[in-house]
This record gives sequence, C-alpha cells and structure tokens, in this order.
Amino acid sequence: MTKGPNTMFNKAKGDENLEKVKWLEERCNKCGCQINSWDRRISKTLAYHYPNCEKCIAEEYDMNVEALRNRMEHFFGMRPCMGI
Ligand SMILES: [Zn+2]
Repeated sequence: MTKGPNTMFNKAKGDENLEKVKWLEERCNKCGCQINSWDRRISKTLAYHYPNCEKCIAEEYDMNVEALRNRMEHFFGMRPCMGI
C-alpha cells in the first residue's frame, strides 16, 4: 500500500465524534473523482445505487457541501474529520 492522501485526515483533534475518513478505490458515478468513506456513507444513506461524491450529492439536493455536511452530521450524530 502506498501512502495516500488520507494522511491529511489524520491530524488528531481530540474529538471522539470525528469520523475518520479514508479514500477509497472507487470513483464518483457522476463526476468520476475519487471518493472517500464519507462520500460512500452518505451515498448509502441517501440510497444511491452508485456512490457519488459529496459535491455531486450536494448539487443534486441543491445545497452546498457545508449544508449537506451539517444535515448529515445531525443524521449520524457525528461529523467527518476532514478539511476538504
Ligand atoms: Zn462527483
């Protein structure tokens, strides 16, 4: 395994509720960008057949990524640990 871009998510924040996000060997079904575990989780939650990245999902729901994260944060009771 090579070191992926996920190392940038490993900054400890001391918050138990933060979800560790990992990049996956999967692509967004819409724009083709690499997706991470957060993207896949929200895709699943929203009953997508194929995973989409959060940007495409947010677009589909006509909200920005921050609003989508806030909504999912309420839904899951946690927020993603990432800075993208
Ligand atoms: Zn996408």
